[in-house]
Parts: sequence; structure tokens; C-alpha cells
Amino acid sequence: MTQHSDQPSNPKRRQLIQSAAAAFGAAALHAPAATAGSHAAASSSAPLAAAPSESVDVVVVGAGLSGLTAARELMRKGHTVAVLEARDRVGGRTWTIPVGARRYDIGGQFVGPSQDRVRALVSEFGLRLQPVYSDARHIWELPDQRIEFAGAVPSLSLIDKIDLGRLIDRMNRIAQAVGTTAPWAAPDAAALDAMTLAQWVREHSFSESTRQFATIMTRAVLGADPDEISVLYWAYYVAQGDSIEMLIGGAGGAQDSVIEGGSQQLSLRMAQELGAAVRLSQPARRVAQVADGVDVFTDTARIHARYAILALPPAMAAGIAFEPGLAGNRRELQSRAPMGRYAKVVLTYDKPFWRERGYAGDVGSLQGPVVATYDDSSAEGSALLGFIGGDSERAWRSLSADARKAAVLDCFARWFGPDARKPLAYAEKDWTLDDWTNGAPATILPPGVLSRLGPALRQPIGRIHWAGTETALRWTGYMDGAIRAGEQTAKDVLGLLG
Ligand SMILES: Cc1cc2nc3c(=O)[nH]c(=O)nc-3n(C[C@H](O)[C@H](O)[C@H](O)COP(=O)(O)OP(=O)(O)OC[C@H]3O[C@@H](n4cnc5c(N)ncnc54)[C@H](O)[C@@H]3O)c2cc1C
Repeated sequence: MTQHSDQPSNPKRRQLIQSAAAAFGAAALHAPAATAGSHAAASSSAPLAAAPSESVDVVVVGAGLSGLTAARELMRKGHTVAVLEARDRVGGRTWTIPVGARRYDIGGQFVGPSQDRVRALVSEFGLRLQPVYSDARHIWELPDQRIEFAGAVPSLSLIDKIDLGRLIDRMNRIAQAVGTTAPWAAPDAAALDAMTLAQWVREHSFSESTRQFATIMTRAVLGADPDEISVLYWAYYVAQGDSIEMLIGGAGGAQDSVIEGGSQQLSLRMAQELGAAVRLSQPARRVAQVADGVDVFTDTARIHARYAILALPPAMAAGIAFEPGLAGNRRELQSRAPMGRYAKVVLTYDKPFWRERGYAGDVGSLQGPVVATYDDSSAEGSALLGFIGGDSERAWRSLSADARKAAVLDCFARWFGPDARKPLAYAEKDWTLDDWTNGAPATILPPGVLSRLGPALRQPIGRIHWAGTETALRWTGYMDGAIRAGEQTAKDVLGLLG
């Protein structure tokens, strides 16, 4: 079994990896988890270069989809850029790793029909989308019942179906009113932000299965339980992804297709185009705004630029020291915007035995620990993937490696039969324990944050501009949002560069 880890490597290994231009990123053995503040702690003891080692127009921090998109746009317009990446690979929350005989996505993967920015990049690079297998029976597993159904609507009792349908309609209507541009200015923003989604669901439903559905939904979509996020944040998240049906949907929804060969290819191709501008294993430790620009310090370099784009989630920006200290609400936002708790597992098999039994391979489960699954097979191999999110991740994370794998196999065997117990290969990655992400798939906002501090998500501070999927106006939390945000921030900075 492999626990894939992105922990910072030692300097010698870093050099080796850089010089070999390690295209796909190395899968190191699992190392102990670090705390959220570990980067800041490291920064105070790190030797910081005194004189600028380089001057560029724009320094970009973070070589995920967003940072690479921004850097590429700027370079294409003739500007010089440097992209500083903490990890020894590009791609951030997307990572395509070998599992058995084939490579699989252990991070972001699915592409939906309205995600036109990621789709544009897929076609620009001559890659292909493969629809996810879904034309068979689906499973919902609630604590006291297992529901198998074909089509989009689970076969609940009439009364439960009406209750669930009404709750979804009500939330979709609120989402439309909240919108994506300025959710903090929406009518009732303060009231919606004062309440957790769990409270709201209790108030607006009477059926236990509706409440259980809400928990599966937020664990699968955000890696959080409904009592951890505000109604305003969830409404905003739904609005930027169109509707609840779209967010949770397989065919025709956000989980419609995958990129053949893996989604990290997008970042690898962009990094190739950027060439030497991308610097791996170079965590930004300090960002200082000076008279004529910005100085960004790593352990070994000081890059001077006219502008800086920080393309990482707010929780990761919290690990960087800023001089002068961040003005306005940004600092408070960074300390109050955690990531979801999320792990992903991939299991490969010699054949898609679940299809032979009439199953699509997708499950939504409250029993867990695996909360949601999909068929991840292609012409090159059969596989299932699973997500462990929210409170189920917390319990699973504290098990031994053997017990974690056993718990995962128990789930798949419960759903698809004993063949599931014998995968050819198994891989897991708990993104919650990853130093450079601290959780996944995206930022979650508890009550009281979005209404008070929301504008700080996108507002530049002096010469510092923010990118990353968390700043997107559409598909925030997704690969599409990351690309969109990179394009938008590059446009803003281009306007200033003249
Ligand atoms: C398990 C999982 C499943 C997901 N599923 C999907 C899906 O199916 N579909 C979908 O569209 N999206 C999915 N996502 C979300 C998607 O992957 C992300 O929204 C997207 O990749 C974010 O890109 P980004 O560039 O905004 O941020 P990131 O990818 O997080 O990039 C930020 C980069 O900054 C780097 N960094 C952090 N701190 C520093 C520092 N101090 N100095 C330098 N560099 C630093 C990080 O190493 C990282 O490379 C999933 C994510 C995960 C983890």
C-alpha cells in the first residue's frame, strides 16, 4: 500500500529533482504530518538572500493550475515571470501517480460540461475527455437502508422524495439570489452567514434521509460536514457551480468526464511552455512590498518583481510572512478559512466486476469511511476511486495504514461484493496531512466569515494580487475555477503593467 506524500524534501534531493526536471513528481514515503503554522515557523529560521538574485516583471507563487495559467498569460504578452513552487512538482492539488500498471489521478480529476476553461485547455493540448461510466445502477447507503437505483433520482419513499426535492429547490433559489460576484452583499447575507448549513437543513426538512443526504453531499463536494460551513458559503458555492444537481451530478454534472492520461498533464504542459521560469522546491517564505515593487524571499533566493501573484488558497498564504503586515481583512481571512478534510483512494482490478453485476461503480455513503466512489476505468485498466471526506476522514486518518486499507476494502466489498477485496494495486493520499495544501478539495468557510471578510478574498493589497481557485467567480474549488482565476488575475496585472 502506498500513502502518497508531498512533504518538502531535503536540499540535496531537491537539487537532484530540479536538475532532472522531474516531470511527474516523486512519490515519497509518508512522513509525519506538519501543522498549519509550520511554513511560517520555518521561515523565521531560514537564511534569506540579502540582494535580489533576479528581477522580473511578475513573480507568481504557486505552480498549480492557477499560477501556471497566470504566468503563461503574462509570458505570452511579453513579460518576464518567475514561478516559485514549494513542492518538487507542478500541479498542486492535481497529481497523476502510478498505481499498478497505469497512472491515476490522486487529486482533482473530473470535468463538467459547463467548465469551459478547463475544457479549452484540454483541447489546446490535444488531450481527450473520457466520459465516466454511469449507465447502470447507483447505490446510496444510509445508516439504516441501502438504495439501488437507475437514472438520476434515488428510489426514496414518496414523502422523502418530496422533502428532498423541496430542500434542493429552496437551496438553488437562495444560491441564485446570493450569486457569485459579491455574496456578502446579497439580501440576507448576514442572516445566512450566521447559521450553519446543518441548522438550515434541520429547519427546512422533516425527513431523516434528507438530512443524511446533506451530510453525504458536503462531505463529498467540500470535505466538510454541514455543521462546519455557513449557509451563505454553501449558497455561494452552489451558485458558482450552477446548482446542487450540477455539483453532485455524474453524467451531465461536475463528475461527467475525466482527462485521459490524468489532469496533471495540464500543469506539466504549461510548465513546459514556461521552461526555466518555473522553480521547483522554492517555497516563498516572505513577501516584502518595497518602493518600486515586491521582493519575494525563498530559502535561497530573493526575486524582485513589479507585481506578485499569490496563486494559493488563503490557508496556505497564512504560512508566508508579509512586510508590511497585510492590511485590511486579509490576514484575518487567512486565519479563518480552513481547507476541507479530504482523502482519495484508488483501487485497480483485473476486470470491472461491478459492471458485470449491473453497478455503475458510484456510491454515496453515510456509513463510510468512503463517502463517494466512481468507476475510474479506461481502455488501459479497470479501477475504482473513492473519497473520504469530512468527519469520516478524521476517524479514518487516525487508523494504522493496514486498518485504513482494511476499512476501505470493507466499503467496496459491502457495495460490490467480495471481488473488491482483491485489488491489484491500492493507493491513498490524505490531502489533509499534506504540508502544501493542508486539506482539500477547497477552502471551507464557517459562519461569520464570508459576510464579514469575503471581499478580502480577491482584493489586491498594494502590488500583491491573489489568484487560485478560491478567487474564481465561477467553479471556485475546481480546476476550471483555478484556470479562470489565473486568467482573470493575469488580465488585472497586465492592465497595470501597461
Ligand atoms: C482529492 C481531490 C479531488 C479533487 N477533485 C476535483 C475534481 O474532480 N474536479 C475538479 O475540477 N477539481 C477537483 N479538485 C480541486 C482542484 O484540484 C483544485 O481546485 C485546483 O487544482 C486548485 O488549483 P490552484 O492552482 O488554485 O491551487 P493549488 O493546486 O493548490 O496550487 C497552489 C500551489 O501553491 C503551492 N504552494 C503553497 N504554498 C506555497 C509557498 N509558500 N510557496 C510556493 N508555493 C506554495 C502548492 O504546492 C501548490 O502547488 C480536487 C482536489 C483534490 C485534492
